[in-house]
Amino acid sequence: MTGLSPGATIGILGGGQLGRMLAMAAAQLGFRSHIYCPDHKFPADQVTDLVTRAAYEDKDSLEAFAASVDVITYEFENIPVETVGWLAGKVPVFPDARVLEVSQDRLQEKGFINALGIATAPYAGAGTAEEALSALEKTGYPAVLKTRRFGYDGKGQAIVRSEGEVKAAFDSLGSDKIIVEGFVNFDMEISVLVARGRDGEVKSFLPAENIHTNHILDVSICPARIGQNLLDEAVALAEKIVAELNYVGVLAVELFVSPEEPRLRVNEIAPRVHNSGHWSIEACPTSQFEQHIRAICGLPLGDTRLYGQAVMKNLIGDDILDMKHLLADPDANVHHYGKLEARPGRKMGHVTRLYPLDVKIDI
Ligand code: AMP
Repeated sequence: MTGLSPGATIGILGGGQLGRMLAMAAAQLGFRSHIYCPDHKFPADQVTDLVTRAAYEDKDSLEAFAASVDVITYEFENIPVETVGWLAGKVPVFPDARVLEVSQDRLQEKGFINALGIATAPYAGAGTAEEALSALEKTGYPAVLKTRRFGYDGKGQAIVRSEGEVKAAFDSLGSDKIIVEGFVNFDMEISVLVARGRDGEVKSFLPAENIHTNHILDVSICPARIGQNLLDEAVALAEKIVAELNYVGVLAVELFVSPEEPRLRVNEIAPRVHNSGHWSIEACPTSQFEQHIRAICGLPLGDTRLYGQAVMKNLIGDDILDMKHLLADPDANVHHYGKLEARPGRKMGHVTRLYPLDVKIDI
């Protein structure tokens, strides 16, 4: 396989912690990185070769960026689809604009997943409170009303338990493009990080179990504490999705695990590296970040076996003030994202600990 050679430059749209860890993985393999980000100060600027600070709609800056790189990727999915499509006319961009478009719209995303024969929550789109009421006849109560676009970490969501709550819930979202999702009765949330290379090679990491606090990921445990059959089934679903999309790069597939059939339902997909895969930096021969770089550069994918069970804890807001204690813990692999202001809810860093494969994780 011919791929990019060390010395080539990888363009990354977005400069958050995911861009930062992608740039570090790129450097490990001898690549240069060029981060394109509209912000003045951002986590990736500390670790990249080149930076462009400009809007995602700024054609002159995009033109110069495209001319300076050999391949382009992105680290968050709210980049305008038009920007990615336009850049793809100049330089290869992975994942492609079509995938980005599907993943930006919860309604399209669920339609795509169901068309593959993979279960999701029951759902229907709505543009008014009245339409939401008829959608609820299909999904039943309780249900979650979500904006179709730009929701993250539980933002843009409202739960309804009865007809009387629908109007207020709809109005609280402030959008006329929403999706109504039946509430899934789940025991656990898991995610699969799967990679597909430019030549179609596919490799998955073992599924991780994700525990949220205040709608923000708190802890990821890999492997998820479910039976081998479910682990295998989750991986098979994720691999089917990347194959159908002719996807290139790392894709995160988030799933609900239910006590009743269908045991697995896809919640959402993210066309990028993901917070629930950070443990792979220490727990696997190849991290999710290196895997993404390998995939988009046309290089062979790396090994994803686990050296041990992994527990990753996010350091949110003031948690980062505990860093000195964490550094004193010989088992703690500490990551600081270089953000200087610890605002509530802000992801400041994470810590990963590994355990032998045969011990019971008690969290
Ligand atoms: P999302 O932004 O869609 O990932 O939703 C954030 C969180 O809300 C998920 O991780 C779940 O814990 C919960 N959630 C979202 N949709 C549903 C659903 N249809 N049924 C049950 N819980 C949900």
